[in-house]
Amino acid sequence: MQQPAPSTSLPERARRVIPGGVNSGQRNVPGLTDLVISRAQGASFWDSDGRQYTDYHAAFGPPLLGHNDPDVAGAVAEAGRKLDLCGVGVTEGEIELAETLVELIPSMERVLLTSTGSEATFHALRVARAVTGRRLVVKFQGCYHGWHDSVSLNVISAPERVGGKDPISTGILPEVLDATLVLRFNDPDGVRAAFAEHGADIAAVIVEPVPHNVGCLLPEQEFLQTLRDECTAHGSVLVFDEVITGIRHGLAGWQGVSGVVPDLTTMGKAIANGYPVGALGGRADLMDQFSSRPGAPVFFAGTYNGHPAVVAAALATLRKLRAEPVHEHVFRLGERVRAELPGVLAPLGVPAVVTGYGSVFVTYFMDELPRTYEDLLANDTGMFVGYRRRMVDQGIFELPLNLKRSHLSYAHTDADVDRLLEATERAVREQLAA
Ligand code: PMP
Repeated sequence: MQQPAPSTSLPERARRVIPGGVNSGQRNVPGLTDLVISRAQGASFWDSDGRQYTDYHAAFGPPLLGHNDPDVAGAVAEAGRKLDLCGVGVTEGEIELAETLVELIPSMERVLLTSTGSEATFHALRVARAVTGRRLVVKFQGCYHGWHDSVSLNVISAPERVGGKDPISTGILPEVLDATLVLRFNDPDGVRAAFAEHGADIAAVIVEPVPHNVGCLLPEQEFLQTLRDECTAHGSVLVFDEVITGIRHGLAGWQGVSGVVPDLTTMGKAIANGYPVGALGGRADLMDQFSSRPGAPVFFAGTYNGHPAVVAAALATLRKLRAEPVHEHVFRLGERVRAELPGVLAPLGVPAVVTGYGSVFVTYFMDELPRTYEDLLANDTGMFVGYRRRMVDQGIFELPLNLKRSHLSYAHTDADVDRLLEATERAVREQLAA
């Protein structure tokens, strides 16, 4: 095996042995291909040259408490001293975590742990197809539910691909794409029409109750209620994918905010503040179909499900979220950003709207707040990505990819928000002048 020459840079070494030099297609960010991360703490991370970035990307959402929270890190270290993974039976921690999730999340009568959100959504759709004996899954343009085939379509689609099937990958069987219907978000009439035509064949409707994979589209109550009503009327399974909204937007998730209770809920990310977790829970009659229960027919497995370190991280995270005013803090900072950024942007003469919920915010460069993915086609992509690159140059990390959202954590401060406002003004001004 050839050893790298001493002068070879870390990014070059990475690209030799890792395709593209990063471990996710979502980390392949133009302009940041040489970024090597060495440390993260609180509201910041540092690169291998020692540069500090205030982090609003937040790894796509998990660290609600901030990076490397001492209580979470301590719990993980303690768990590691006691036990790693036995792969048989159950641990006391898993029981406590399941009890906590069942207590917090209105739809959850039973819950199973996975290592990722994608696994949770995969199993949600599998059990829905199993119990209904039906073929079709409904998803919405602009929503992301993980990397598996049934949902790997119509996330961020180019204008000419909206309205058709737009797979995010090659290698997916056409018959799998055929079995997913793609509808418009916030369009109750479209949902009613799809059920009128295909209702008897729809196994599940899966939705991000707040589509955050395109920034933030706030759901209209009639839309979510229509999903609930149509699924109930036609015997289809309603899945809320709360991988982002769950815990981050409130301990009861978006179902707690909206009062619309799905049949199944998928979660991940903020539950364990950065450790690899997913959860699938819901109605007992559906969850009892999984093969974790003796004789049940829907196969369910995963070597690392309920890993003690992850469970310890989740328990420490949820304990802290319940004991300390975390939501109050991040919601207040989020309100500040959403209230004050428009005042910074307006004098610059650029069309811009700032939206979000709680700890999440996003600035779009367009005239009106978007309701649907189709509205987002008016966003000025060059401005969106360009100003964020200039933010990164100032040490403020908002991910410079189109339509990505930004996150606040318990570790961010008012002084961070002040700096964010100043940096945004400078970055947008520079981008306009470019
Ligand atoms: N659902 C939603 C709403 C997500 O945002 C994501 C991840 N961004 C997933 C599912 C998939 O989760 P994971 O990356 O942990 O597989």
